[in-house]
Amino acid sequence: MIQLPIPNIDYAEMIDELEFSMQACEKKNRLSQSKKELSDLQSSYENLLTSLLPPIADNKNDNVVGTLTGKNLKWLYTQKLQKSKYYKQIRKQAKVCPFCLNMDRPKTLDHVLPKSVYFEYSILPLNLVPMCRDCNSGGKGTSRPDNLDEMTIHPYMDASCFFEDQWVQVRFTTVEDVNTIQYYVEPPVEWSERNKLRAKNFFYGMNLHEIFLDRANHEIANLKASVIAMRNKNMSYEDIHDLLETQITKESSISPNHWKVTLYRSSGKLFMPVAS
Ligand SMILES: [Zn+2]
Repeated sequence: MIQLPIPNIDYAEMIDELEFSMQACEKKNRLSQSKKELSDLQSSYENLLTSLLPPIADNKNDNVVGTLTGKNLKWLYTQKLQKSKYYKQIRKQAKVCPFCLNMDRPKTLDHVLPKSVYFEYSILPLNLVPMCRDCNSGGKGTSRPDNLDEMTIHPYMDASCFFEDQWVQVRFTTVEDVNTIQYYVEPPVEWSERNKLRAKNFFYGMNLHEIFLDRANHEIANLKASVIAMRNKNMSYEDIHDLLETQITKESSISPNHWKVTLYRSSGKLFMPVAS
């Protein structure tokens, strides 16, 4: 998890621009009538992490904000915002996926509060975060949080402990000669009970234990081959250790919870397959 800067976008101004880009039609009329109410919703969203926000309407055909229906708001997202400069601006502010720390630039945006439930925040920049395809297809939920313990970790608005402390761990076990790796959540003891629960709900809800495991298995297969090759060139384990340490410098600077960093540094020492 990494923290991202809040998008530098004036919401009221953005709504004006989207309205301006529309041809005269009923949807445009509804937006014109409701834009003040729509932009005012940003202030309630800012309390997201401390007070549970119930969705305004359950039915997409109901009026959700002023005369705008849920369907209108989803249309504004897919047909207007996704094609606007704002979409690119928000997406480009992340060089890595803020959730799984995939090093490829995220190709999509995701709604923190899902747009299929919270129509009212469909185009609010604060509710839109860059996300990679692995995370988007990996198990990102579309349900509403039932309580604050289920609130996902918010890359713009959340407590620094989620981004600065190490709370993802890795465990190696051998059962009947089969080695297995398990990523799991173990936050520092001093964290609040709510933050501990939120970290767990987030990590397993996003399927990050499986995404990380998949990447670790690929890494270990490659690493084994390169350690064997280095040993065949008579490199000492100390030199190999130093070389591997430099390989995770970049990931360490991104997050202490990067899957590669936790993999290499598990058990307080550098992980090295085939070491004697
Ligand atoms: Zn991702």
